Amino acid sequence: MSLKGKTAVITGSNSGIGLGVARELARAGADVVLNSFTDRPEDHALAAALASEFGVTARYIRADMSQGADCRALVAQAGRCDILVNNAGIQHVAPVDRFPAEKWDAIIAINLSSAFHTTAAALPLMRAAGWGRVVNIASAHGLTASPFKSAYVAAKHGIVGLTKTVALETAEEPITCNAICPGYVLTPLVEAQIPDQMKVHGMDRETVIREVMLTRQPSKQFATVEQLGGTTVFLCSEAAAQITGTTISVDGGWTAL
Ligand code: NAD
Repeated sequence: MSLKGKTAVITGSNSGIGLGVARELARAGADVVLNSFTDRPEDHALAAALASEFGVTARYIRADMSQGADCRALVAQAGRCDILVNNAGIQHVAPVDRFPAEKWDAIIAINLSSAFHTTAAALPLMRAAGWGRVVNIASAHGLTASPFKSAYVAAKHGIVGLTKTVALETAEEPITCNAICPGYVLTPLVEAQIPDQMKVHGMDRETVIREVMLTRQPSKQFATVEQLGGTTVFLCSEAAAQITGTTISVDGGWTAL
């Protein structure tokens, strides 16, 4: 399928899932806007590399997704936003009675409120263009909980609720809004944890992945950033035009348990 002529804005896309999603959207022909809160030469180099590999226009725009004004400015600076992927996210793990309030606020701001601000800014552009796709990268934790992840689970459940509301508000327009709920995904961050875990548990790579990292993922395989990118491209396709207000799990069976 071709997304030629469409512009995609992907928040938090200088690494991991966001970059993987941006790559697959660019492969499908979309012009892409990468984002994070840093403004380093290597951030801009990522955009240049996508442009030359896929023959699309690619830009990197610095904006801090913990700040509502920055979220809105990102969309305004992009100029067009046919596809909005709300992906930026952080994590902190602690029991709820010892959860630092500033971590709670940061997680709610970056993982949830940013999507409110970017969506509010993007919908008028989508309406003007007569087409739009909002794809929210939620989590298996948008549908289930784990101990010690109160802010993350609350934010991810919240973004599933926001997804449904935006879908209802745009239901009669050529705009859809859906959430992808990944299980454990093999990102560079996760890959980097494997050697440490092997040492701590005295296990080989395969055993640590199976027995320690993927205890809740029945497939015993990580999802990949390419699979999440492919799911995003599918949600942008004509085949998905009547899919709105729902979640697609890419979790190896986690939520079937
Ligand atoms: P990551 O740390 O590689 O990516 C997070 C991205 O968000 C980075 O590009 C980072 O620069 C950006 N970011 C962080 N704070 C920001 C801010 N204030 N402003 C702008 N950008 C900011 O992690 P990832 O695993 O690729 O996670 C991406 C999304 O996928 C997150 O929303 C995460 O909750 C979700 N997710 C990840 C997994 C997994 O197993 N990796 C599973 C389910 C859901």
